Amino acid sequence: MQKGILYIVSTPIGNLEDITLRAIRILREVGLIAAEDTRRTKILLDAYGIDTPLTSLHDRNELKKGIHLIARLNEGTDIAYVSDAGTPGISDPGYIFVKQAIFESIRVVPVPGPVAAVAALNVSGLPMDSFVFFAFLPSRRGKRRQLLESVKEESKTMVFYESPNRLVATLQDISEVLGDRQIAVSRELTKIYEETLRGTVSEVSESLREKKIRGEITLVISGTTTSPDKSVSPDEIRARFQEARKNPGLSPRKEIYRQVLDFINENSG
Ligand code: SAM
Repeated sequence: MQKGILYIVSTPIGNLEDITLRAIRILREVGLIAAEDTRRTKILLDAYGIDTPLTSLHDRNELKKGIHLIARLNEGTDIAYVSDAGTPGISDPGYIFVKQAIFESIRVVPVPGPVAAVAALNVSGLPMDSFVFFAFLPSRRGKRRQLLESVKEESKTMVFYESPNRLVATLQDISEVLGDRQIAVSRELTKIYEETLRGTVSEVSESLREKKIRGEITLVISGTTTSPDKSVSPDEIRARFQEARKNPGLSPRKEIYRQVLDFINENSG
């Protein structure tokens, strides 16, 4: 008998429209959807008129439930796995299930889509050609500072998930351990109250002062080469643009961008 396929399907991180046409089709066509939280996934399925049977697979039952679902896959049922939001396995369950499937020679197919870390990087204004993703920062202060100490020399942009309740304390730790780096704090990406604060740690901390911080937070921190003592601040870039625009000899637009980019490259890391 032909084995079923395990699809690892990414789902929206807030905005229900952020789902691919292929994800919708796969969720409709498979025999079973395994979900981290069936109630949350039901909202998504209802929005797209999908009535595929649902079962739960979360971090507390992943191993046991995985074995049961592998049996279904071995019998020929196609299964889609979805987590609460974004891409399964990224600070979410899914890894053990995928390992089990691979061990059983079941075909595992990705149906890619949103990841909060990548969405936050996209709007951070920090280099995103290469980056390091650390998932959640430790909630205990000692461990958090220990982790920050260990990444002091990291030159790539760093991405962390953080709880709104810990953000202020975390920013203070970042400032004390890594210095006053450039950061971007993205909140509620793709949702109504989406917001990204950019600047040095002290600037962002200042703008958060006395604010009640709510929602889902992703933190992007510049690597060492773009730390403030070496990099160009947004104000400097703005000034450079204005200066370049005044120059009548500098058109078309591409030439202005080239000059400003040269300036940034000469003054970074
Ligand atoms: N699997 C998800 C992904 O692909 O990004 C991540 C799941 S993890 C349990 C949830 C964390 O991701 C949140 O606490 C927050 O740090 C981050 N996150 C999720 N959605 C977000 C959003 N809309 N805006 C900013 N951060 C978000």
